Amino acid sequence: MAKILVIAEHRNNELREITLQMLNKASELCRANGHELYAAILGNNIEGLISGLKEWADKVIVYNDPRLKDFNPDNYRDVLTALINEQKPIVTFLGHTPWSMDLAPGLSVKTGFPLATDCVDITMDSGRPKVVRQVYSGKIFSRMAFRDASGYLITVRAGAFPAAKAFDYQAEIIQGAMPDLVTQGRREFMGYRDTCKGEVDITQAELLVSIGRGIGEQDNIPQVQELAGIMGGTLSCSRPVVDKKWLPKYHQVGTSGKSVKPKVYLALGISGAFQHVAGISGAGTVIAVNKDKKAPIFRVAHYGAVADLLNVAAALKEKVSVK
Ligand SMILES: Cc1cc2nc3c(=O)[nH]c(=O)nc-3n(C[C@H](O)[C@H](O)[C@H](O)COP(=O)(O)OP(=O)(O)OC[C@H]3O[C@@H](n4cnc5c(N)ncnc54)[C@H](O)[C@@H]3O)c2cc1C
Repeated sequence: MAKILVIAEHRNNELREITLQMLNKASELCRANGHELYAAILGNNIEGLISGLKEWADKVIVYNDPRLKDFNPDNYRDVLTALINEQKPIVTFLGHTPWSMDLAPGLSVKTGFPLATDCVDITMDSGRPKVVRQVYSGKIFSRMAFRDASGYLITVRAGAFPAAKAFDYQAEIIQGAMPDLVTQGRREFMGYRDTCKGEVDITQAELLVSIGRGIGEQDNIPQVQELAGIMGGTLSCSRPVVDKKWLPKYHQVGTSGKSVKPKVYLALGISGAFQHVAGISGAGTVIAVNKDKKAPIFRVAHYGAVADLLNVAAALKEKVSVK
């Protein structure tokens, strides 16, 4: 039976959400095409993570070794090359994350499998994957097919699929045999530095009122901050607001900021670049206000208003204050 393999990603002893998002999509493809779903996890003292994966795949292959304690693209590539050569999955999924941006090209060279990066959708067509990628900042979707090969590598964009179980599994756990680490010692893990902690923790907020470059100028921020306060919410923002030094980094949502899970995410003047949207995949209801009706944020928003954010903020403030 053909296999789809998902490479699990974890940090600080927690599975990263991208792992579950990949497993969701891989499970859907496996069930539709009669394939088996394999997950592989590399690390050291990762028993808790292994049990967390059990209900997500048919088989979980584990490489538990002190040399794999921290992510090291050289060591990880050696192990994954051996694993792929042995298991011969038809498709291997990796997250389109800093891990795999480093790891996947080398893995493609070592295995000889073609690689498609940053994919937002994947289908199977006569045993071969086809992928969808975004170009021109998400304005155009391109559908792509692979050349014929015995296996394919795909990196998956964070937030492209839900982190939800598509099916209940009870995985068989398999201990993988460590191969020789050919390039060991070439690179060394120095340490992990978290995005700075601050006065507010946007990851714990139930309501986030989030501003983007559309706020126009720093002087406009206090009125939105006041609105957030009245509504019992927390102020967050997109990266340009931090880059301009209008708000500290700990307010930033997105791939180089924080992933958030509010019940409601109110996006004011945010275009919806994928680096931002990836950070709100766990949000409940997304409401967007943007002057441009074609802004990509409206693709992920449950409710939207094509309007000037300052007018909407003023009207909302009045409504909420009256109550
Ligand atoms: C490696 C890397 C990592 C990144 N990480 C992040 C990240 O973590 N988080 C992040 O946010 N970005 C990140 N980015 C940047 C990202 O690509 C976008 O540039 C950024 O998200 C755009 O922010 P924005 O939507 O606020 O600004 P813009 O894209 O400039 O959008 C502003 C929007 O406001 C609207 N607007 C303007 N005026 C008004 C008004 N008065 N009322 C209503 N709407 C209005 C416009 O129509 C527009 O849609 C990253 C980029 C790279 C390369």
